[in-house]
Amino acid sequence: MSDASVSALNAIKSQVPATTTVIAVTKTVDASNIQPVINAGHRDFGENRVQEAAAKWPALRRPDTRLHLIGPLQSNKAAEAVALFDVIHTLDRPKLAHVLAEEMAKQSRRLPCFVQVNTGLEPQKAGIAPQDADAFIAQCRSEWNLPVVGLMCIPPVNEEPSPHFAFLREIARRNGLDQLSMGMSGDYAVAVLFGATHVRVGSAIFGVRT
Ligand SMILES: *Cc1c(COP(=O)(O)O)cnc(C)c1O
Repeated sequence: MSDASVSALNAIKSQVPATTTVIAVTKTVDASNIQPVINAGHRDFGENRVQEAAAKWPALRRPDTRLHLIGPLQSNKAAEAVALFDVIHTLDRPKLAHVLAEEMAKQSRRLPCFVQVNTGLEPQKAGIAPQDADAFIAQCRSEWNLPVVGLMCIPPVNEEPSPHFAFLREIARRNGLDQLSMGMSGDYAVAVLFGATHVRVGSAIFGVRT
């Protein structure tokens, strides 16, 4: 079981450029099943809920672990998120930007942030609308001095992902951002073709979530 996760992760790493960060997504995965992947030397892990991460990661993490928040963040959890995580992939609205900036200043921690863009304009999905992305990125920089490093998207489940990846890349390019968090178990190889610098892979490493 654990060996299978390490082998699966190594196979994925061998298929992507060395410069692409493979984030092993550990939501719903028990600490005992994460441990072998940490022992194998992997550093980048993703969780989508602050509470679950707070329960698992303080005991698991090593000094060089990078924990990525890849799920929606409520403003009232920003303080905890800044203390616990190393990278935020889901910055998507002014209120959150404001609170994150305050917390980073308070805690003297500057976490690289990805702005999440709702490329499919799905009403139930988080992310800034594409037409508001340029203004929001500019505001994050000028008003809150946030370390915005790139963009993140989750394409609609039943659509061809490549137009969404191309769209995200274009928004990043015109805003001078060179990091792209896109691609999951089913489409990371396609995402890499479109310039993904970070792929977020869960079930292809740890098996199907129950
Ligand atoms: C769960 C999740 C992933 C990983 O999904 P898999 O299909 O299991 O690889 C990637 N990104 C986000 C935002 C997620 O919530």
